Amino acid sequence: MDYKELADLIFPNAKDISYYEEKYPERNLEEGAVVTRYAPSPTGFLHIGSLFQVLIASLMARKTNGVNFLRIEDTDQKREIEGATDAVIAGLKDFGIHFDEGMISNEEGKGEYGPYKQSQRKEIYESYAKYLLAQGKAYPCFASQEELEEMRKKQESAKIRTGYYGVWAKYRNLSVEDAAEKIKNGEQFVIRLKSPGNEEKKIKHKDAIKGNVEFPENDQDIIIIKGDGLPTYHFAHAIDDHLMHTTLVVRGEEWFSSVPTHLQLFYVLGFKPPKYAHIPTIMKMDGESKRKLSKRKDPEANVAYYSEEGIPKESVLEYLLNIANSNFEIWRKQNPNISMNEFDFQLNKMGVSGALFDMVKMLDVSKNVISRMNAQEVYENALNWANGYDKELAKMLQDKEYGLKVLGIERGNSKPRKDISKWSELKDNISYMYNEKFDQITEFSYGKISDESEISKIVKLYEEKYFDINDDKQTWFDKMKDLAEELGYAREVKMFKSEPEKWPGHVGDISTVIRVKLTGRQNTPDLYEIINVLGSQEVKRRLQK
Ligand code: GLU
Repeated sequence: MDYKELADLIFPNAKDISYYEEKYPERNLEEGAVVTRYAPSPTGFLHIGSLFQVLIASLMARKTNGVNFLRIEDTDQKREIEGATDAVIAGLKDFGIHFDEGMISNEEGKGEYGPYKQSQRKEIYESYAKYLLAQGKAYPCFASQEELEEMRKKQESAKIRTGYYGVWAKYRNLSVEDAAEKIKNGEQFVIRLKSPGNEEKKIKHKDAIKGNVEFPENDQDIIIIKGDGLPTYHFAHAIDDHLMHTTLVVRGEEWFSSVPTHLQLFYVLGFKPPKYAHIPTIMKMDGESKRKLSKRKDPEANVAYYSEEGIPKESVLEYLLNIANSNFEIWRKQNPNISMNEFDFQLNKMGVSGALFDMVKMLDVSKNVISRMNAQEVYENALNWANGYDKELAKMLQDKEYGLKVLGIERGNSKPRKDISKWSELKDNISYMYNEKFDQITEFSYGKISDESEISKIVKLYEEKYFDINDDKQTWFDKMKDLAEELGYAREVKMFKSEPEKWPGHVGDISTVIRVKLTGRQNTPDLYEIINVLGSQEVKRRLQK
């Protein structure tokens, strides 16, 4: 009996690999086009680190006119969570992440290189496993859990490297006859790679993010097909990324140490390996120390958190780009008004160690993102969020015409307001523009001028003599100064500052009184615009209140 007969015994029906090699020909793409993918396991919610990863893959594909596809890696069926695939697809779609091919739902895929779900590719893996078996480059291993456990204990007590390698690889040199016998007797087995590696030797490798590295060669006879007949991640990765013609694997840093194993698999299979880009894990400061964003402890680890809080998708993506390439921030300052998609993202400018996630910074980015939206966009986004999370705000926004005016205050000009970072802040931010809300304010704090009769005097004089809804901005402004002067205050702040003892206060203190009277707040966007949105009647009502 020879290797080929053993391979036939194990996979009698597997096709010759030439079938698949022909079925999935080279892609016809322009020079330099990157073929990349996002390959999640359906084991839970969409993590912010996954979004980070998929954003980077999609930027690389887009910038090179390449391909970005979605492959579902569901070979670990014990860890699979029902509905996770659909949730990931929906979550990414929400963020405007576009895939050129791959799964479009849990069942359905699109594209010429599918199936894009590993559990539907079983016979493909079998073909390639058979191909290796037939050359004696892989073999069936009959070690039981107990046997492996015992071996590990021996290795540990002898203080040597644990694992299934070299002399420890008990079934590596089992004769084909003995192996066939065991199989015929129905013994359980897995298929292992017969590793050609030597621990003493080093391989040189260049990671697209981490740069040049050296690893010892892999000498572990890793499992390629598990007892349940499905491939391990390692094997599926090599087969799939070969047949799908992936040129760049963007994946989590936790796979970095597997690179020697993967390069070896590609070598043994006779495939050209892809480039690898290992994405740093997203970390956060916890007191003085850095730690991974945790699914359990940190709500912001789950991408759904941002929708709940009403942090716009663009803000999240733009912040992630900020973490990815630190020169993005300067670029953004120089190009405040164009889409983040115009930024020339560079893999080799990514930080090598853990990327630090900072919520304060994200909200700051978000303020800028929202400031670039026009009133219509703010209105639509806010209403959309409110419909899901805040009925009261949704009701306030029902009057669209008025809503657009309120949200248009200090927006769409050269220096738009930057006081909103998320939709959940909006209600409080605009509440005084709604009479019902304004009328609930019971405490008015007027700043420097606190004497009640003085306040009444200011408000009364303003209403009777200076307020006119038809004034243009300059006139309105000048009238504020006139008002200050008539009341004995400095008409310019500058004047006041040079001789503060001469006046009880200045025009700013006067306008604060009017501002508080009209809004209940000392800090608001442009008061002139607010007055115009409120309208003459409402302004008078508030002044007389
Ligand atoms: N399924 C693997 C994971 O979720 C994919 C790693 C890869 O992109 O190759 O970690």
